[in-house]
Parts: sequence; structure tokens; C-alpha cells
Amino acid sequence: MTTALDTLTTRTGLALRDVTLTYPDGEARLTALDAVSLDVAPGEFTAVAGPSGSGKSSLLAVAATLLRPDCGEVLIDGVDAGALGDRERTALRRDRLGIVFQQSNLLASLTAVEQLLVLESVRGRRPREARRRAEELLASVGLEGAKQRRRPHQLSGGERQRVNIARALFGEPSVLLVDEPTSALDHERGAQIVTLLAEITRAHSTATVMVTHDRDLLGRVDRVLEMHDGRLS
Ligand code: ADP
Ligand code: MG
Repeated sequence: MTTALDTLTTRTGLALRDVTLTYPDGEARLTALDAVSLDVAPGEFTAVAGPSGSGKSSLLAVAATLLRPDCGEVLIDGVDAGALGDRERTALRRDRLGIVFQQSNLLASLTAVEQLLVLESVRGRRPREARRRAEELLASVGLEGAKQRRRPHQLSGGERQRVNIARALFGEPSVLLVDEPTSALDHERGAQIVTLLAEITRAHSTATVMVTHDRDLLGRVDRVLEMHDGRLS
């Protein structure tokens, strides 16, 4: 089946237009995102900083098309995610978004290289080619040789985060969304991960959004936006 998405090849990155998101809160609604607008171009590394509870994860969930906003638009490479049906939105996410969640959700029984290959069943590269690409990506994030055949419990926190990042890149996403990638790491390893994300943003031309509450790590980003009570400035 050919859809509008298949024919659209231009990468324009991520745009949010006047996005408002509320959650049920007893009788009332809690406003997690309050008329948020944001543009991130390909190759641009944007950080969103703000205190806990300010709406950062909600912002990423909406940008990832995992939560539908009450109003406003989410555009991925110019495609309005809100106008798509569930199937098309799932395809959009698979083909154009790379997501690194706050909790590492690696599968305990799989090796690093298998964490990437498990996604392949939905993509259709040839197995040998997929494995070569997975190994190449893991090496590019600093996991080489025998480490690629380790399971999550045999890797350090920083190494697990590198597997998460490589996995997010496996589908060659236009938009890379990363939630608090350094929260489980010491300062030095956290700084290494941010440097890696900066390099990836250049090398893969991703429109990258990293959410963090750690302001010491913002030296390598192109732009820092502040989130407060659901408002972005
Ligand atoms: P941050 O990532 O900056 O800590 P969140 O986006 O997780 O902020 O949360 C923003 C606000 O929305 C907080 O007040 C939080 O309690 C609330 N919130 C987050 N998720 C939910 C949910 N699933 N249901 C109800 N309220 C939520
Ligand atoms: Mg959060």
C-alpha cells in the first residue's frame, strides 16, 4: 500500500504549533503543556531544560505522537500527525522518529546487537545487511567488539544508554527525542553522552530534542529552551 508518507522524502524536522495538553486531575484538568510552539531543524540539537514536573516528558510524548494533544499541531517532516489514522501514525513513528526514553527499556535476554535487530522484522532489510548496520551503529556510539554481544546486566549504565541511542538511530530517524539521558550517570559519563548526541545530530542530520533538568550539561547544544509550568520560552 502506498501512502502519502512513502512519497514524502523531504526532511524538515519537528514542529509543534500551539500545543496544549491536559491530564485529568480529579474534577478538573491539569495543564501539562500550555500553547507550546517549537521548531527544530535537521541537524539542530535543542535542549529543553526545566524543573521536575514542568512538562518536559509530556512535551516529548506529544512530539513522539504517543500522546495526542487537546489542541495544536505536531508536524514530523511536515506531516501533521494529528491528521493520520492509528496505522499511519505508527508508520510515521517507526520511519521518522527515534525515541530514547527516560527508563532504559532494553530487553533483559537480548545482547546489544540483538536489541537493534529485534526491530528489523518490521523493516525488511536483509538479515546480514541489518546485522552489519547494527554493529556499525553500536561501534559509532562507542560499543565495540565483545561488548556488542553482552546483555544489559553485563553493561554499565552509560553503555546501556549508548545501546538505547544506537537503537533509536537504527531506523534512520529524522527526529530524535531523548528524555533525561544522563539522569542515571555521573557527571563525566553524562557529559560524554551529551557530546555523543551532538555528534550524532551532525552526522545523521537529526532534529534532536533532549530534555534535562541538569543545566551543567548544556555546553554542547545549539539552543536551550526553558520549560516552566507547561510553558516554553
Ligand atoms: P517533567 O518531565 O518535566 O518532570 P511531566 O511532563 O512528567 O514533567 O509532568 C508534567 C505535569 O503533568 C506534572 O504536574 C505531572 O504530575 C503531570 N502528569 C504527568 N503525567 C501524567 C499523567 N499520566 N496523568 C496525570 N498527570 C500527569
Ligand atoms: Mg520527565
